[in-house]
Amino acid sequence: MRWENPIRFYWYFQGNLIGIAPATYLVFTWGVPELPEVETVRRGLAQFTTGFTIVSAEGLHPRVLKPASLGPLGAVVGARIKSVNRRGKFLWFVLDRDQALVAHLGMSGQFLFPRKDRPEPGHVRARFALKKGLKRRELVYSDQRTFGWLSVEEMHDGVPTSALHIAVDPFDAAFDRDAVIAAMKSRKAAIKSVILNQEIMSGVGNIYADESLWRARIHPEIPANELSVRKIGALVDAAIEVMAEAVEVGGTSFDAMYINVNGESGIFETSLAAYGQDGEPCPRCGRQIRRIAFGNRSSHFCPKCQVK
Ligand SMILES: [Zn+2]
Repeated sequence: MRWENPIRFYWYFQGNLIGIAPATYLVFTWGVPELPEVETVRRGLAQFTTGFTIVSAEGLHPRVLKPASLGPLGAVVGARIKSVNRRGKFLWFVLDRDQALVAHLGMSGQFLFPRKDRPEPGHVRARFALKKGLKRRELVYSDQRTFGWLSVEEMHDGVPTSALHIAVDPFDAAFDRDAVIAAMKSRKAAIKSVILNQEIMSGVGNIYADESLWRARIHPEIPANELSVRKIGALVDAAIEVMAEAVEVGGTSFDAMYINVNGESGIFETSLAAYGQDGEPCPRCGRQIRRIAFGNRSSHFCPKCQVK
């Protein structure tokens, strides 16, 4: 068990992990949330908060409320949650009014439904009481590193203000694959920067960038405009595929992130082919995966499968 892990996600409801649900998964930890993790959170929140009315909402830390918020969290008291939506890594509760309660998990934000028979969650930054008929539910927002935030925002055609600048992600019905490929093809920057550019296509972070480049056999440093439309298309498809697989298992993380009661790590982490695998054999050709600097982060690739 990794209860001491500083980045952790304990999200229980009736003894099960929300979003994955097998009874064996009691503890769930992850690193910086990427799209699949945020989608997992969205699904869990949608399942357990839709139809509930917000009875109370209280911020418990000065930085939990985004400065641009239209008001304090208390402004959403009395609203009924109609659904929970997402664009890229922005999440929002759709309310029965023209405003939404928006959340960005930052580095370590978590939503939890506390249980009386579990340790009190730490770093609680906001607390909500929800009610639906006779059912009452407490929801807390916890964030150790406080890079995440909550805010009350105006909606513009179904999208809150802070997510307006974010391009649609590949899981959005409005996603236009050909337009995204053309936009990528027009860039001179390294393909890895281009696939990470949230204003072209949202949702891909460092882990899924490395994985999709590996799947499409593209070196991360090749300028995007030197790649064929077909090759960029293969990359976009690989990104969609790898993120869809991660959503299926509830997201991934840097270190053992799905920890079940036996301390065994989860499924998707073990299927990462490139990210964090430096020195390990490439699952396709056996050559050692290499790590190179990419800004203040790293890129992982196979020097045989992904040549410049
Ligand atoms: Zn290889």
